[in-house]
Amino acid sequence: MSRIRVNNLRKVYDVPGGEEIAVDNVNLDISNTDFLTLLGPSGCGKTTTLRCIAGLETPTEGTVYYDDDDVTPKLAQERDISMVFQEIALYPHMKCIDNIAYPLKVRGVSKDERHERAREVAEILEVGGLVKKHPAELSGGQRQRIAIARAIVREPRAFLMDEPMTGLDEKLKVVMRKELKRVVNETNQTVVYVTHSQQEAMMLSDHIAVMNEGQIEQVGSPNEVYSEPNNRFVATFVGMPEMNIWDARVAGDSIKVDLGGGQRIEFSPRDDASDSSRKRKTAWSSRSGSDIDIGFRPQALSLVQREQGDINAELRLVEPMGENDLCYLDVGNLEIRVLASDASGVEEHTTVGIDIDRQSGYVFDGELGSTIA
Ligand code: ATP
Repeated sequence: MSRIRVNNLRKVYDVPGGEEIAVDNVNLDISNTDFLTLLGPSGCGKTTTLRCIAGLETPTEGTVYYDDDDVTPKLAQERDISMVFQEIALYPHMKCIDNIAYPLKVRGVSKDERHERAREVAEILEVGGLVKKHPAELSGGQRQRIAIARAIVREPRAFLMDEPMTGLDEKLKVVMRKELKRVVNETNQTVVYVTHSQQEAMMLSDHIAVMNEGQIEQVGSPNEVYSEPNNRFVATFVGMPEMNIWDARVAGDSIKVDLGGGQRIEFSPRDDASDSSRKRKTAWSSRSGSDIDIGFRPQALSLVQREQGDINAELRLVEPMGENDLCYLDVGNLEIRVLASDASGVEEHTTVGIDIDRQSGYVFDGELGSTIA
């Protein structure tokens, strides 16, 4: 397994009427045995980055290293990697066992040995009973598992996977995620994985690189990108339901928020005397008079009786989410999301109070979006 490094990667496509900068200034250092996921919205450059790492695209600028080898000029087939992409490419004329064993055949492994290994990985992925069939006789989900089995049948320098769970139903996705994680943990593989599903990224990854508009916004453990986002984009993209962000202004050493509809909140470091509070005070006191954004996850807000919380709001909609209820409330033109443990006693279209856990706010630069505190 290899360490993979990407230095100053840039990929520009020629498109009718101009250029499309798909990826710009991307830097990654993925240690061997790391499971790194590229996560971000559609079109942010995840697939392009992965394809450059794989050798399926030539970077416009930048270098890709596997350990100390500069593989940038090498073709994909010269890089000793295993790939699973969205569009499954099984050989239709071969039985599944031969599809799975194919990477071993290419390397000259004897038939008995490669079939034994293929059966082993088919068992791991719970498709052991299907190996005598042809791909056309399988469901999409089963074919996907055969493709993953083929990828893990040998030990390459790295695994590169682009949305390999696409097309599987929700239940199978959960099973496959668990299987993939187990196989990867047991065999200490380097994996670069692409998904737009944060649930998948959170569950599988050692590290997540959050991408936006061709660039990397933050690389960190799942917990870091969730709890310590570098900026407003990461804060709002990671975490479900999405963080509430409000325009605010620093006045002296406090933060004033005017939500409209007569609802105002003032946050002051004097509200408590904790260390984090003191740090925040120093972080924002030099910005008196400037515009900032303040963010609260829906988990940091709770519903209380009208006039008993920090603000009042009209409850518009309650969306049951299993253990919790996601509540949408309106203050003037602003929508506020609250994750309540139980909103069953509260009627829609009534005014309720919202209590804010002031300790869990995030403060962002109003213009740049970078995290201040
Ligand atoms: P998705 O999650 O939708 O697959 P992505 O994050 O993987 O998106 P990319 O497929 O890497 O994004 O695309 C990044 C940008 O580059 C997009 O704006 C896309 O339109 C553009 N792009 C990708 N491939 C090409 C190409 N072959 N020619 C022109 N533009 C391209």
